[in-house]
Amino acid sequence: MTNTTGSKTQYLADQIAELKAQGLYNHIRTIESPMDGHITVDGQRVLNFCANNYLGLANHPRLREAAKRAIDTYGIGPGAVRSIAGTMTLHNQLEERLAAFKGAEAVVTLQSGFSANLATIPALVGRGDVIFSDQLNHASIIDGCRLSRAQIVAYEHNNIDDLRAKITATTEYGRRLIISDGVFSMDGDIAPLPELVEVAREHNILLMVDDAHGEGVLGRGGRGIVDHFGLHGQVDIEVGTMSKAFGVMGGIVAGSQVVIDWVRQRGRPFLFSSAMTVPDVAACLEAVDMLEESEERVQRLWDNAQHLKSALADLGFDTGHTQTPIIPVMLGDAQLAQKFSRRLFENGVFAMAIGYPTVPPGKARIRVMNTAAHSQADLEQALAAFETVGRELAVI
Ligand code: PMP
Repeated sequence: MTNTTGSKTQYLADQIAELKAQGLYNHIRTIESPMDGHITVDGQRVLNFCANNYLGLANHPRLREAAKRAIDTYGIGPGAVRSIAGTMTLHNQLEERLAAFKGAEAVVTLQSGFSANLATIPALVGRGDVIFSDQLNHASIIDGCRLSRAQIVAYEHNNIDDLRAKITATTEYGRRLIISDGVFSMDGDIAPLPELVEVAREHNILLMVDDAHGEGVLGRGGRGIVDHFGLHGQVDIEVGTMSKAFGVMGGIVAGSQVVIDWVRQRGRPFLFSSAMTVPDVAACLEAVDMLEESEERVQRLWDNAQHLKSALADLGFDTGHTQTPIIPVMLGDAQLAQKFSRRLFENGVFAMAIGYPTVPPGKARIRVMNTAAHSQADLEQALAAFETVGRELAVI
């Protein structure tokens, strides 16, 4: 058979060639082991500082067993979207447990955090409405905002004065919504949620926070950013994910019963895409059990992060202004960051270089993702590799 698509897709081949020529093509490494503190990548055993597996649950025996047991009882797939094929007991259980865990009135789960944003934002606002969105919000928030067809007004990152000014300057609107990431994943800083609540209350504007990196990390025993600031019942919508600290996959929308009922009626990824799979739901339920039983993993995550951050700073590295277990090791130059990451890998440490356009030009860095799966010895090994490479490349 002749392949006739070649000429039609030449423009894509050209762009790929261009990305490769500029050194910007995204080569994805292959992981040949379970996701954990140590992994096998492209045949090499390395210490893993790339994953959002904050609590080390992605390969935990309890989650694995829970998934297997659920498969034996319920099979694997949900069969169709919940509004058509019906919803399984397990999904309802997970939503009830998550609502109780987070101290929210109600929860609906989606297939992913990305879907949760796409479901929620266009369900809340539409044409003629206005969204005030932090300039550094995640891509899934940006896409959710675009899909809503509401006017998007970006305010300066974490700048409440700028938000107030933008609200005052926007005089034509229907409904209004403020949206912010909870934890910003490139710098590890936290949104000023109490101030956002205040502004939202003053102007009677809906407030939504995406707590993807705070779920299982911030708050008492990992109950999230709303719990961290003690703002229960004051943030209208809290979106989250179970793909990071929970170690599985699945999106969370938490809020009042009326908001959650509405997302079930109008959230398009809820209505037109199948539910989370059975093993995912069962593993997430087990993760909630574990989080409710003990705060020890969350504490270990924070202890590890604190130790690594202060030791990296003692070595002379600039670790930015992180407030969470995400540690950016600021290097500035993108090529230096790429080289640093390659040399770390050769020294047995997998930590990604992040450059433009993910972060502004001149702000390239190695992003170190801490987890509770790392032992003290792992941290010492990582620090030794950072010191070796840092000296070799004259960064410290
Ligand atoms: N929101 C934010 C703030 C995120 O960081 C991410 C993941 N990078 C997502 C949403 C998407 O989550 P998921 O991987 O579950 O789709």
